[in-house]
Formats: sequence, structure tokens, C-alpha cells
Amino acid sequence: MCGVAAWLGDDAASAVYELLLELQHRGQEAAGIAFLANGGIRLVGGPGLVREAIRLPAAAARAWAAIGHVRYSTSGRYGGEQYQPVAGSKGLVHIAFNGNIVNYRELGRELLGRSYTWDAQLVADLVEALYLEQGSLADALREAAQLLRGAYSLVAITSRGELAAARDPYGVRPLAYAVGDGYAAVASETAALDSLGLPWREVGAGRMLYCNGSPKDCVETGLASGHEPRPCAFEYIYFLRPDSVFEGVEAHAARLEMGRRLARRDTVEADLVAPVPDSGRSAAIGYALERGLPYTEVLYRNRYAGRAFIAPPGERNGRLKRKFNPIRSTTWGRRIILVDDSVVRGDTSRWLARILRRSGAREIHLRVASPPVVMPCFLGIDTPSRGELVAHGRSGDEISRVLGVDSILYLGMRDLEEAVGRRLCLGCFGGAYPFPLDVARLEKVFTEDRR
Ligand code: SF4
Repeated sequence: MCGVAAWLGDDAASAVYELLLELQHRGQEAAGIAFLANGGIRLVGGPGLVREAIRLPAAAARAWAAIGHVRYSTSGRYGGEQYQPVAGSKGLVHIAFNGNIVNYRELGRELLGRSYTWDAQLVADLVEALYLEQGSLADALREAAQLLRGAYSLVAITSRGELAAARDPYGVRPLAYAVGDGYAAVASETAALDSLGLPWREVGAGRMLYCNGSPKDCVETGLASGHEPRPCAFEYIYFLRPDSVFEGVEAHAARLEMGRRLARRDTVEADLVAPVPDSGRSAAIGYALERGLPYTEVLYRNRYAGRAFIAPPGERNGRLKRKFNPIRSTTWGRRIILVDDSVVRGDTSRWLARILRRSGAREIHLRVASPPVVMPCFLGIDTPSRGELVAHGRSGDEISRVLGVDSILYLGMRDLEEAVGRRLCLGCFGGAYPFPLDVARLEKVFTEDRR
């Protein structure tokens, strides 16, 4: 996952800071901003949330171009020691990107003569080397797109004041921009641009926004030959803010429909429908509306505890325990249909079943608004091996037992695609990745490089 932002125009560093605050849900391990002021690019950032990680120095007030990033690590080391944006080795190009490059080791060895353990550094060095050859950021990114294999939505600036925002040929991750009088703005999600009142457009799959030093000189142009977009299904299921639009589809609307479709396949009797807050809420509303059952909340979620799923492994359990507390007046003696957006490792569901039973729930029927996650992701989600997935190699009954719920029902892949109304990447559900991947080899690569 991760979130990226960029701004060209007055007060660029502060504007990127504001956009990153709106994208905080996409990454909570680290944050950073690179800004162009006084002819050079400066980088600030570190571990933690945007407000903890970024202290803008006085020079940032003169920044005319800036890019920024919130990190959810899916390559390189856990924790905030590594953060983006990343500088190329000569400091002429800085990039920030959301996604994963599956051939970064080979590209590093074969083209740059170095071994890499972090795909972001490879992308920065490669784009900078191509920039030195081509003399234009747009041409460097076009050339890089012929070499990079994976999912990426990236922003880049050069010390000459060029700014670009590019989306991979399959458009796996979201990216949007707004260009107006005196500014060009970019953000991973449309909701971030909405929050600043900017009229946005999405960057098309295999396309880029390129600005040659001024907002007046911005154009959306081709990056690589197009494919049918294959947006990540998980963006619609979990990552996107409900008020964001990706490939023309609002996340909340898609999630409501996922819940409705799940409900149509269900006959279990229950007293109420409740979401796992907050990401299961839209689907739970759709489910309850479809079945005409009472909808309520059975869990309080501490919104200052962060998103447990995207926390580094060592922090997940502690965060989970602090995050939820049952609401006893709605759990005691009730048969609960608990709707979650997804079940990946199973830690959250197992913990919730335990605390709901402790607070008197009579039955817990877990309804999951996505298919079982049975395969790893190498395109921007930190699930690099099959062994950590609770549904891998288990039947529905076995999963129910492991999670401690009375029953479980998942959404099917076809219903998921129909709910979104788009062809999706469904790789982690055992469907198709956008392009062929050597899963066994990549499990090794992405597990080895994580510490
Ligand atoms: S494999 Fe799953 S999580 Fe990864 S990009 Fe595809 S749908 Fe998204």
C-alpha cells in the first residue's frame, strides 16, 4: 500500500504535508517529504505518523515543488528506519512510490551492478540513471516503465523542477491529480484532493502527469502501452477511504454492494448485524439493508490505536488488544452477524470472537465481504507467504474452528468483481494476478528481504 502526494506551486512542502495527513490511513510506519528550494532537493522524514515524522524547516516555506510519502512497508526493513521519498545516488531525482517491483533484484544486478534489498532504492537509482541519459524526467520514466515489472503509482521530482506522477500499465494502485491556476497537485486517493477542494482526475493506467517546471506546463501523457486496467481488489475491500474513487468507482458504493451480495447468499438466523469497525462498516450496512435485519455496533474501536493490519508484525497483537472493546448492551445474549471486510491472517477475527464471547454473545456468525485470501501478494500488500494466511489449505469449517466463530461465509470472486463493476487483480484470492508471477521464487525474495 503506502500513500504518495506531490505539489507544484507556492508553498509546495506545506501542501504535500496536508495531503499526507489525508492519506495517513495508507501507511503509518514512516513518512517523509522531499522539496525543492534554493536549487537543491532536501529530504525530511522519519518513523511514525506524519505529525511525528515530519518537521518542515524554514527553507521549506520557499519550496516550489515537493513530493511526499506515508509508508506501509512491503519491501525493505520493517519500522521507520527506511522511509520515502528516496534520492537517486546523485541526488538529482527523488521518487516516492506505492506498490512493489518484483524484478528489482535482477534490474539492480544487471543494469546498475549493485545488489538491492529494497525496491524503492532501485527505482530511484534506475530513474536517475535514465534521466542522466535521456535529459527529461518524462522520457526517463517511459524508459523505466519498459524495465520495471510490478505495481507502482509513483511521484518524482528533479533538481530542475520537473514533476511527474505515473501509474503502471495495469493501474494496480490508485493515483489522481488536479491542475489549476498556479498549482498542480497529486495524491494516491481522490479523497485527499477533495479535502483541499481541488477538482481531480485519475491518472490513467499506463499514463503519467508530467509538469516541466510550472503548473502551466503540465500534460497527461502516455507512459507505456496500455493494458486493460486490473486495479487491486483489496483497494476496494479495505485500503481506500470510503469517500475515495478508484477507476471511477467509489469505495463506499462498492462495499455496500459487496455486503448486499453476501447477504443474498446467506440464510443464517440472527438478532443483529454489526460491522468490524471501521473498514467493515459499509459492507455491514449493505448486508443489513439487504436482509432487513437490525444494524448496530457491537465494538468500540479506538481510532488512535492505528490500523493493526498494516502495523509491523511485532506491533500487531498489542495494537489489536488496545484497539477494540465490546459494547455489552448489544452483545449480551445476542446472535450476532459480524461483517468484516476481509480475513487475512485471522488475528483480528480470532481476538474479536474471544472478546465478544466474553461479553456474552450467544452466537457469532462471521460474514466476510471478500473471498478467502489463499495466495500471497507481491504488488503492494505485506502478505508475502502462504504460510501466514489463515485460509490457505483450510476448509470453511476449519477456518471457523481456528477463529472461534459459529460459522463463516465469504463473498465469491465473481460477486466481488460484479460489485465493483471492473475486472480486478484477484491474485491473492487464488484468481489471476495481472501478469504471470513466479510465486515460489517471490515468496523467497520478499521474505528474505524483510527484517
Ligand atoms: S494480489 Fe491481492 S492484494 Fe495484491 S494487488 Fe492483487 S488483489 Fe491486491
